[in-house]
Amino acid sequence: MFALMQSTRLESLHLSVDPVTGLKAVIAIHNSRLGPALGGCRYLAYPSDESAIEDAVRLAQGMSYKAALAGLAQGGGVAVIIRPAHVENRAAVFEAFGRWINQLDGRYITAIDAGTSVADMDCIAQHTQFVTSTTAAGDPAPHAAMGVFAGIRSTAMARLGSDNLEGLRIAVQGLGNVGYALAEQLHAAGAELLVSDIDHGKVQLAMEQLGAHPIANEALLSTPCDILAPCGLGGVLNRTSVTQLRCSAVAGSANNQLTHLEVADQLERRGILYAPDYVINAGGLIYVSLKHRGEELTTITAHLSKISSRLTEVFAHAQAEKRSPARVADELAEKVLYR
Ligand code: NAD
Repeated sequence: MFALMQSTRLESLHLSVDPVTGLKAVIAIHNSRLGPALGGCRYLAYPSDESAIEDAVRLAQGMSYKAALAGLAQGGGVAVIIRPAHVENRAAVFEAFGRWINQLDGRYITAIDAGTSVADMDCIAQHTQFVTSTTAAGDPAPHAAMGVFAGIRSTAMARLGSDNLEGLRIAVQGLGNVGYALAEQLHAAGAELLVSDIDHGKVQLAMEQLGAHPIANEALLSTPCDILAPCGLGGVLNRTSVTQLRCSAVAGSANNQLTHLEVADQLERRGILYAPDYVINAGGLIYVSLKHRGEELTTITAHLSKISSRLTEVFAHAQAEKRSPARVADELAEKVLYR
């Protein structure tokens, strides 16, 4: 674990268990140079405790890079609560988590992420002020989706020469809080939607409401399309799956889409333009960060609208230097974090 901490330059790792509620949680604080660490809280089942810790560490690093490139005075941190097979009292788990966060005295501020809801954030908020995306603060997912939508247009412009999405075939993997909101915007812009989700009810809804074409989960990545939008969990782009892609670009909301940075080089060699995940999906972080600081929606929307130009800038550097946009984005973020 120390090797992973060293290689990712992680600042600190915190673990907690609460025998009364069954809470088993990890908080990874990656870098707090720009401000207190802020990032989502996952509530998922993991194959092992080590895999949960690794997920938290890698996601926390992504959050630092995201905040740095989004121009936010925020560090990167992430929490993972390991979901047990059975939970007696979910609210009690999140309340215990809130008490624990409070002990960190503001070094980490939590938010909604995969597997958590505004109701969970409300439970946390009973015990600490270091929480965002409560019922009162609002769900960041629609803002994340708005940023990804703008980023997909920039990606289409860079790769296909036009930001008009009408008639483009866009494959959305995962129709959760962000994926479904994104699919709605893509549909409104005239895109043809190909969708998959392990929850068939969500696919059915997208078929009925958005005229989406259902694709089997295992077939989505190899389905011919213009743009692939991974909006489920991370790690979908690995050395094998990348060889199967039949798209011109990848641009979606999922965090940590690449298993390794070398996979981005593979995409580049295949002529597939990759929109770095933490650049295109920064809308959620921008929303929770600025909302927590008491900013108005107009200020938040103005900040959010910079995502597409930042992405265009990354693409331009990458094209000029004949490198993957993922490497360019990492270098730009590291300049901010470690200069
Ligand atoms: P969510 O849990 O609401 O949705 C994820 C969806 O993906 C679910 O419907 C799930 O069934 C589906 N899914 C999971 N694995 C799949 C697979 N292999 N194939 C098809 N479908 C699959 O989560 P969310 O809040 O929509 O977030 C989605 C992704 O975007 C996550 O990686 C998250 O970290 C990232 N993200 C979220 C936000 C936000 O504000 N919620 C912001 C930025 C990034």
